[in-house]
Amino acid sequence: MDDASAGSAERDPYTRCPDCGFIAPPTSMDYALTPDLAGIDWTAPVRVTCFICHADHYPAAADVLPLDSVMTCKRCGEPVACPAGAARVRCTGCGLFLTGPDLTPAQRDELRIAEGLAGVALRETYLAARERARRREPRASSLSGTRSNRALRYGLRGGRDGRFPDPGCTRADGWI
Ligand SMILES: [Zn+2]
Ligand SMILES: [Zn+2]
Repeated sequence: MDDASAGSAERDPYTRCPDCGFIAPPTSMDYALTPDLAGIDWTAPVRVTCFICHADHYPAAADVLPLDSVMTCKRCGEPVACPAGAARVRCTGCGLFLTGPDLTPAQRDELRIAEGLAGVALRETYLAARERARRREPRASSLSGTRSNRALRYGLRGGRDGRFPDPGCTRADGWI
């Protein structure tokens, strides 16, 4: 049992986020493996992105919480080991994210708000990145010479054949 818990802790280290204060498994993490590839090398920096507020933090091995509680997955019925007081628990059976059973109604509200704000921030980041990419695209294309050269080639070919390329066709050719 101890071994199994330690194993799951290695796979999915639960930590308390210093930003939002909730306990959750990471939504993503960067880490090195130990030389025997058996687990996380805690002597190297480990970056964890909070599942709830998406802040990055750098826990040490001692910050990983023991899986000293169990909750039952409401979808697959699997008993899932988790730290007591966890806000989010990832079902080890079906992967569903569960709300920790120990949260008070006030903490559940806080959790909902923290995740909602992080969702809005993520969406804004995503939209801003997409907008930047869109604005960068014409410059990137002319730098690599694709669109303008190809447009020129199509134009020349159209000229030689005595026809102009159909904009509908060029779009289907995938250069738009
Ligand atoms: Zn957080
Ligand atoms: Zn499940």
